[in-house]
Amino acid sequence: MNEMETDYLIVGGGIAGLSAGIALKNLNKTFVVAESTPEARPAGAGITLAANAMEAYAELGVEDLVRNAGRVLRKVAIEDQKGNALNRVDLRKMSKSRYNLGIHRAALHQALLQAVGVENVLWNKRSKSLKETQAGYTVEFEDGTQIKTKYLIVAEGIHSKLRTYFLPNSEIRYAGYTCWRGIAQTKTQLESSEEAVEIWGSQGRFGYVRVNDEQVYWFATAKFPQQSKEAAAFTLSDIKQRFSVYPKMVRELLAQTSEKSLLWNDIIDLKPIPQFAFGKAVLIGDAAHATTPNMGQGACQAIEDALELQRCLQLNGTVEKQFSEFEKRRKDRSQLIVKRSWSLGKLAESTSPLVVALRNTVLKLVPEKMNLKQMEQILNQPRF
Ligand SMILES: Cc1cc2nc3c(=O)[nH]c(=O)nc-3n(C[C@H](O)[C@H](O)[C@H](O)COP(=O)(O)OP(=O)(O)OC[C@H]3O[C@@H](n4cnc5c(N)ncnc54)[C@H](O)[C@@H]3O)c2cc1C
Repeated sequence: MNEMETDYLIVGGGIAGLSAGIALKNLNKTFVVAESTPEARPAGAGITLAANAMEAYAELGVEDLVRNAGRVLRKVAIEDQKGNALNRVDLRKMSKSRYNLGIHRAALHQALLQAVGVENVLWNKRSKSLKETQAGYTVEFEDGTQIKTKYLIVAEGIHSKLRTYFLPNSEIRYAGYTCWRGIAQTKTQLESSEEAVEIWGSQGRFGYVRVNDEQVYWFATAKFPQQSKEAAAFTLSDIKQRFSVYPKMVRELLAQTSEKSLLWNDIIDLKPIPQFAFGKAVLIGDAAHATTPNMGQGACQAIEDALELQRCLQLNGTVEKQFSEFEKRRKDRSQLIVKRSWSLGKLAESTSPLVVALRNTVLKLVPEKMNLKQMEQILNQPRF
């Protein structure tokens, strides 16, 4: 049997786990990240990191590394299915200079891994069980490895195994819509390269954002029953047909996507949980507050977690107290986003003609100044 000891064990090497690893490295802590996949695999399609995440990465010391792996975005737009603007925000008009980043998930993962140090990550370690000991915890993994740790950081994502030890009744909710994602190989469409666009229409939403000089990430959502066999069987040609009345750009992006890059999953979240901190253990990222992607804040909140962990671990007192302070600082903010995102999804996915007409009229009437103000409220991570 393989046995190890460490001061801090992070279980899960996704965006939350690797970002937390960077925080621990900055603080010269002894830690290890245990990740279930056999190797650093290029996961998923693209992602947008909003300005709050990039500002958190700046304080974690990796902003340049991450920014250089993606594409700076200055504008966010919502359009109707005819391509008419419903809402537009130019981030350069904010009270301080800000930008979002479009990035391929594999590139983000690579950058974070480089910052954490591959020597600090163990692959093929899927957590199986957890034992509380006087000194902390012993985590057993499916391959038989046991890691003894003084402090435990659970970053296993929404389906976290170890969360069930602390909260056996946490609830995952289906939002009522499903999502396909892909990467278009295209050097054209550069006119919108600084803009993240979402089209809200009768067939669902279609969004796209450039992630580098060669690739544009897109997603498409639609109302379907949970785990629908029909949605699971959708091919690119089904998606092309479903969104055929959407603007030309949609058709062009789909035409430049290969079938093998197509991903599908239902949109789910974690019903807000009562606690993040449990003595010598803490939940972070999607394991603590998985949200629907409607506000593009899931990973951003995981990155804010890492920064707040770094700040809390520098406070006076025991690590138990520091974890508890982390919960105090992070729970309300991350769960507010979960709730807002859930409601936004309902509005965005509405197919009722009356609701859509009213929604689109209101969206068009909202002045950019007000949009900027609302966006700034989300982007401003509170300082304690
Ligand atoms: C369609 C879609 C679009 C999105 N778009 C955006 C966006 O634009 N912007 C944004 O900020 N967020 C977005 N999100 C949300 C974002 O993807 C998540 O919030 C983010 O990935 C959470 O990171 P995490 O590390 O907490 O969890 P995960 O990314 O799920 O990582 C968890 C890690 O733990 C590992 N793991 C799982 N179980 C175990 C185990 N038992 N033992 C060991 N390791 C384990 C997994 O292999 C994985 O590496 C989107 C989500 C979806 C579904």
